[in-house]
Amino acid sequence: MTDILKQIISRDPWEREYHQAVREMVDSIGPVLARQPHYAAAAVLERITEPERIVTFRVPWVDDRGKVCIHRGYLVEMNSAIGPFKGGLRFHPSVNQGILKFLAFEQVFKNALTTLPLGGGAGGTDFEPKGRSDEEVMRFCQSFMRELYRHLGPHTDIPGGDIGVGAREIGFLFGALRKLDNQFTGALTGKGLQWGGSLFRAEAAGYGCVYFAAEMLMTRGMGLADQVCLVSGSGNVALHTAEKLIALGAKVVSLSDSSGHIYDPEGLDAEKLQFVKVLKNIRRGRIREAADRFPGISYTAADADSEVNPLWRHRADCVFPCATQNEIGEQDAYSLINNNIKLVCEGANMPCTSEAIDIFLGKNILFAPGKAANAGGVAVSGLEMVQNSMRLSWLGSEVDERLRIIMRAIHNRCLETAAAYGTPGNYLNGANIAAFVRVVDAMLDQGVV
Ligand code: NDP
Repeated sequence: MTDILKQIISRDPWEREYHQAVREMVDSIGPVLARQPHYAAAAVLERITEPERIVTFRVPWVDDRGKVCIHRGYLVEMNSAIGPFKGGLRFHPSVNQGILKFLAFEQVFKNALTTLPLGGGAGGTDFEPKGRSDEEVMRFCQSFMRELYRHLGPHTDIPGGDIGVGAREIGFLFGALRKLDNQFTGALTGKGLQWGGSLFRAEAAGYGCVYFAAEMLMTRGMGLADQVCLVSGSGNVALHTAEKLIALGAKVVSLSDSSGHIYDPEGLDAEKLQFVKVLKNIRRGRIREAADRFPGISYTAADADSEVNPLWRHRADCVFPCATQNEIGEQDAYSLINNNIKLVCEGANMPCTSEAIDIFLGKNILFAPGKAANAGGVAVSGLEMVQNSMRLSWLGSEVDERLRIIMRAIHNRCLETAAAYGTPGNYLNGANIAAFVRVVDAMLDQGVV
């Protein structure tokens, strides 16, 4: 284990996800450190792994029964060397400082890959919006923003959504921010189309992920048409990944939530997908209900005791994990390999464990890390910020075209960098090295700050 990892683990031993994210980066950048000895001399790893700032705060609010509830809020501002902090806000009971540090760390490099002038951060809370009334979610968002607003601004920190923070939450958060700030700035992204949002922002992470997968398949003379695809999750990223896959002629046979997954051997079509969109976004129901509605769809409950998640036992060509971190472990990876998959494209952040990634790379499976494959989300957030500052809105076709160009550019940068550093075809190394060099060079230009 490298000295920097030992130091990070001994300082914050409970932050497992953060250790994992740093380890994955450190494992890739050996060749860079060898070629650039001045990086180590300038302690770049020590600097880049220590957040510029972390804020934790109390979020008190009153539920519908009049009970006072207390949650913990966080803002991790990881690195602003190439632009203001930008990342997602996550509302989920599992949220803690280590998870937000991992998300913020990934975001630094993801944003660097887009070539937009954006630094990286993340925020969130252990509040669970699921099962709460709209009024409860509104009161929570208002209390959360009463502290967060001090740290936000279009040139300082501009968060967007992540797990548990969709259009409803962004609306309540933006309303509170605007009231507290007494100005209408674009210091949140994912806004509604009538009040500063961008067309295609909601679709961007999922669509971008599919554009990236299409580029990868093309390097091996293949396309997405007729490929059988497993998609996990049924949130923003998963549903838009499924939507674009179906539009490009692929056969999407699964979706999931934290309770279980649905499987449709015929492949989901536009009608079934629309049902799930309404189910998840408007009725706020569970994915199981899709199996009640459509006879051809089966439902399997999640099984925490099973070595292999039943979702990853199905036969498929391409795999799009779009739910959460570490949802594909070692045994899941073996199961997928035994079923002859060709490609794994991470829609979520860090959904594959390090062991699973090693198995995919060892078998020469096309593997795209989330920081490259799901960068379309932040890229279109960046385009939303541009439109806000210009006070205009681009057409959907214009945003989609820019998204395609950005995803192709990220894909090519990963491939070129991987080849230049002696690991051709390794998108993980390519993404890590290209992003790391961009951020580190900016830090070195700016001195020890
Ligand atoms: P959503 O909240 O919209 O959806 C999350 C989905 O994942 C839900 O189906 C949820 O199920 C499921 N899920 C959440 N936690 C778990 C868990 N512990 N085990 C199993 N399933 C779980 O989130 P997003 O779609 O926005 O985010 C999904 C992933 O994509 C995250 O890793 C996020 O960081 C990443 N991402 C998001 C971007 C965005 O713009 N939103 C951009 C780039 C990456 P349930 O309803 O049961 O909780």
